[in-house]
Amino acid sequence: MNEASSKQLLDKLIGFATVSRDSNLEMIAFIRNYLEELGVQCELFYNPEHTKANLFATIGPNVAGGVVLSGHTDVVPVDGQAWTMEPFRMTERDGRLYGRGAADMKGFIASVLAAVPMFLKRSLKQPVHLAFSYDEEVGCLGVRSMLAELEKRTHRPRVCLIGEPTALKPVLGHKGKLAMRCHVKGAPCHSAYAPYGVNAIQYAARLIGRLEEIGEELAQPERHDARFDPPFSTVQTGVIKGGRALNIVPAECEFDFEVRALPDFNAEEVSDQLHTYAQAELLPKMRAVQRDTDIRLQPLSAYPGLATAPDSEAARLLALLSNSSEFGTVAFGTEGGLFERAGIPTVVCGPGSMDQGHKPDEFITVEQLMECDAMMVRVADYLSNSD
Ligand SMILES: [Zn+2]
Repeated sequence: MNEASSKQLLDKLIGFATVSRDSNLEMIAFIRNYLEELGVQCELFYNPEHTKANLFATIGPNVAGGVVLSGHTDVVPVDGQAWTMEPFRMTERDGRLYGRGAADMKGFIASVLAAVPMFLKRSLKQPVHLAFSYDEEVGCLGVRSMLAELEKRTHRPRVCLIGEPTALKPVLGHKGKLAMRCHVKGAPCHSAYAPYGVNAIQYAARLIGRLEEIGEELAQPERHDARFDPPFSTVQTGVIKGGRALNIVPAECEFDFEVRALPDFNAEEVSDQLHTYAQAELLPKMRAVQRDTDIRLQPLSAYPGLATAPDSEAARLLALLSNSSEFGTVAFGTEGGLFERAGIPTVVCGPGSMDQGHKPDEFITVEQLMECDAMMVRVADYLSNSD
């Protein structure tokens, strides 16, 4: 597959059904084989079950600095979506390339891979690193083991470019997310004797009401950050389960909530406040009726926000690579905050639009893919000129 175009490579990558719940190893083997045939060594970082892997590779001199090109190999499921074409086979129609992951974000990975022969031909003064992860779509889980390894290394890359679909617009930030589950264990009884039981649904309702109050406090104008939409951190309850029959006081209730946090707000403050409320206000009342009752909070997933400063070196570099300094933010999350925490300044810019991501008949335009190929040339120019 030497000298393959980004379109040919995207065709290959879409053919691997790398839904997050399934293995990505066939796609990783394909990428590894492609790179090794070009003489590029790859490192794999597996999950404990050995069913998925991250891939890391470096082209150019073994020195500090350089650019990380980062993408996730997994895609969201197609179950229940009304696709009018085969999701795991690329279809080209009217200047668009259709298939699951075309925009989010195999188009970027295809463009990066297609650029490797060019990177190899140029005499790079700083390296380009490829970092392809798994399990991004289920809470940015996979990349963490690779970052733990990279953090130990002495040579720090200068910037990480995450190629999530921004229509190639330069993006410096997004909110973080914390997803939590709350279990309320009440005490059942016949509903005619309701005061002798502990109604798990009613206590859950009070907790959800408290979350709404916390959300209102976070929405106060003094806490706004106009770079984001909405310009404040938000709290939302999305799932609730509880109760068996109207004539039984419910013993169990469980609900899931999430915090979408501005990058400088620690989302755990919300769960801490809820925990304090539960301990101080609710549990004493519940336990006065029945000792064996409880409220438990369980984290489901979390990733940090990203807020790279517009006057930082990373932002200047992003302006150079994207040909624009009209920096924006995006509503969706990325692995960017995790790269930042590992000491690598991070920016986001990639081909395609999230308007098509996660939807049926997902596509990327040929034009966006070619513009991303042009951005790869600018990456090579930067790495061969400066030091
Ligand atoms: Zn994505």
